[in-house]
Parts: sequence; C-alpha cells; structure tokens
Amino acid sequence: MKTTIVLLGPPGAGKGTQGEKLTDEFGYTRLSTGDMLREAVRNGTELGKKAKEYMDSGALVPNDLIINLMKEKIAGIKGGVLLDGFPRTVEQADALAEQLDVDLALNFDVADEELVQRLTQRRSCPNCNAVYHLVTKKPAKDGVCDKCGAELYQRDDDKEATVRNRLEVYRKNTMPLIDYYKKKGTLVTIEGTGDINKIFEQVKKAIQ
Ligand code: AMP
Repeated sequence: MKTTIVLLGPPGAGKGTQGEKLTDEFGYTRLSTGDMLREAVRNGTELGKKAKEYMDSGALVPNDLIINLMKEKIAGIKGGVLLDGFPRTVEQADALAEQLDVDLALNFDVADEELVQRLTQRRSCPNCNAVYHLVTKKPAKDGVCDKCGAELYQRDDDKEATVRNRLEVYRKNTMPLIDYYKKKGTLVTIEGTGDINKIFEQVKKAIQ
C-alpha cells in the first residue's frame, strides 16, 4: 500500500472529500495546508496574519512560509501520510522531495464549470474541517456538521469572483506539477466527476 500520497487537482476537485475517506478507512494522517492556514488566521498567529491577505484574494501564500510550515509538520509524522493542497508549486515539490519520497500523486480531473458550481455551493465545518455541498453532499441537518455538530459556514474564498481567480492561479502555478509527477512515474489521474463512492473505488485501486 502506498504510504506517501500527494493529492493533486484544482480547488473543488474532491481532494478534501476523498482524503477524508482515505483517512477514515485506512488511517492516513491528512495534512491540509488550507486547513492549517485557516486555523492560523482564526487564531491570529503570526503565520495567520501573514497569510490572510493572500488567501482572501485567492493567491498563493509565499513558498517559504508554506515550506517551513510543512517541514515541521511532516517531520512529526509516523505512518502513511496524505498531503492535501501541498505542494502547489514546483519549488514546493522540490522542497518536499528533499524530505521524503512521494510514492503516489493522485490527480483529480474535473471540468472548470463543475468546479465553480461545487465551490460556490460548498459549506465547510470550521471545527473539524469536514466539507459538504448544498445539493450533492448535504448534511443530515441543514447548516450543521454531521461529524461534530458545529455550525457550517461558507469560506470567503468560495464566493464566485475569488473562485475564478483560484482556478487561474491553479492553472498557472500548480498544473505544472502534473508533468512533474508524471516524469517521476508516480502520477495517477482519476476522473473526479460523478458519484463520490465510485470515485473512491478508483482511489482505493490507485493506493494498492
Ligand atoms: P485550500 O483550502 O487548499 O483551497 O487553500 C486555501 C488557500 O490557502 C489557498 O487559496 C492559498 O491562498 C492558501 N494555500 C493553501 N495551500 C497552499 C500552498 N501549498 N501554497 C501556497 N498557498 C497555499
């Protein structure tokens, strides 16, 4: 079974949802840079103060901040790890390669219009970071997280104008990682549209 997995793909492609399922079923540790940064912003830490402006506009936080943050987090991990939202640039991927060998890069492929629709209808849990969708993945009780009972919210960067900017940023900075991992022989691309459980079946095949 693969132990070091990078989840690749544009925002809204299902990295968080599939990552959550992998964690629940196989016990991977999921490290999401987006979740960590949002927590830092909420707690008003130095990192949060530096990151907020970039995140609000949908831009990437500077590489050095992210690389330092992840170096520390990764060093403390034993067992399988899922990296969600990192690396997002070739510079970050090179820094990661110095620390550990990625044995699978799972790339979720989803069309742009579907991504815009998914992100603008996404609702998130500020407490446990679970994600929902107003139509396709509704919580059992409106506005309340199934997992921990916290009140769901819409991320500021999930509003349409910012979403379109995030997709541009993805294309320019992160898409080159598809070729990067293809060249290393670790890339598997999964069609990320359709039933969540069917997509998960393909994910499970890829990690074997
Ligand atoms: P996400 O939750 O993964 O969509 O991330 C939300 C925001 O956090 C992004 O739009 C970026 O501003 C920032 N961010 C998350 N991961 C990274 C990363 N690896 N490099 C730079 N910025 C990041």
